[in-house]
Amino acid sequence: MAQLDKAAKIKNFSGDFIAQIKKPDRDIRVSIPVKMDDGSLKIFEGYRVEHNNALGPYKGGIRYHADTEINEVKALAFWMTLKCAVAGIPMGGGKGGITVDPKQLSKGELERLSRGWVSKLSDILGPHKDVPAPDVNTTPEIMSWMVDEFEKISGDKTGATFTGKPLEKGGSQGRGEATGLGGFYVFNSLRKQLGLPEKCTVVIQGFGNVGGNAAHIFTKHGHKVIAVSDSRSAILNKDGLDLKKVEAHKKSTGGLKDFPGAQNITNEKLLELPCDLLVPAAFENVITDRNADKIKAKAILELANGPVTEEADDILFKRGIPIVPDILANSGGVTVSCFEWEQNLKNEHWTEEEVLNKLLPMMNDAAQSIFKKARENKTYLRMGAFILALERIQAKM
Ligand code: NAD
Repeated sequence: MAQLDKAAKIKNFSGDFIAQIKKPDRDIRVSIPVKMDDGSLKIFEGYRVEHNNALGPYKGGIRYHADTEINEVKALAFWMTLKCAVAGIPMGGGKGGITVDPKQLSKGELERLSRGWVSKLSDILGPHKDVPAPDVNTTPEIMSWMVDEFEKISGDKTGATFTGKPLEKGGSQGRGEATGLGGFYVFNSLRKQLGLPEKCTVVIQGFGNVGGNAAHIFTKHGHKVIAVSDSRSAILNKDGLDLKKVEAHKKSTGGLKDFPGAQNITNEKLLELPCDLLVPAAFENVITDRNADKIKAKAILELANGPVTEEADDILFKRGIPIVPDILANSGGVTVSCFEWEQNLKNEHWTEEEVLNKLLPMMNDAAQSIFKKARENKTYLRMGAFILALERIQAKM
């Protein structure tokens, strides 16, 4: 909300419009009873926030995490509205979640919980109403259970109500790496304008879907990924990490720690490493007023949602460290989700080449439009992105 107020002041948006966009259209909490494997019944709390549908059906992922609660989901839904507007896709903003540590559940329990979320919310979902997708700890397999449950309840056979599905269940080619790849396209488009060298040293926080894919994509294009982390540990090799070996190590030991080709460091230290590009790809609020002074990267590419707090934004701006904001940098994921929705509705299946060929110009266009918007308004990229998104939403509303 503080970010929004700042953008509203720069461009003098109408108070009525800002008041409307501050509130989600609706936020829903549901109780999901799940029969556990030991025969007991456990009640989980689930959420769906529908923020704004001026540009199209509500769209946004579902997060499974022990700390997930309604305010987090509201913030994420708000960013989705802006992100879809920035990406130029016909979608509005929404987000969902369940307060749960999925690692504590068996596969059967996880499936019953996921189906339970759909059955409690099926009335508000649909290809032209609200289209969820994966987020942290939710996978293509979970989407396949959800789409199946939705079909049973509603009879809808398009499969277009959930994106991020496995390929054989109507998923799109390219969806898995779309967020990381879109981020790379944005970086590539802005690299010179950000004053970054042709070949960069890259530090990535998070080694999941987004961070792991990003690490491979940057390496493939000749950049050097020197450090990565997961929830438990971080590793550094100034000469560059061998990602295939890192993955094999994580698979065999369950974590990154003690990878033979690198030194162990802490997650805090990882964020403060000298490098050309820092890529937070794990969680929100990791760069704050406590560590913003210690960041030594030349630029930040926000692949996670909300990794830099508002106070840290100001500190980094004063220090001349540009930030490519989340609603631009990670919008490749929702863009390919939108392609999946479109393919399902038209009963088509596009090749990976077709998908990536459509993604590239959209990311380039979004990146350059935001750079221009920031320049015109003498502000930084996040505000440029907010202003562009708000103008598009206001025009439609
Ligand atoms: P994921 O669950 O696949 O991966 C998250 C990664 O972060 C894991 O490697 C985990 O170990 C690590 N992690 C967790 N806590 C950490 C901590 N305290 N410090 C360092 N690492 C930590 O999730 P994901 O889909 O890769 O999402 C990551 C971020 O990207 C989230 O902010 C999500 O909202 C955002 N995002 C995801 C997508 C998508 O397509 N998946 C799209 C847009 C934005």
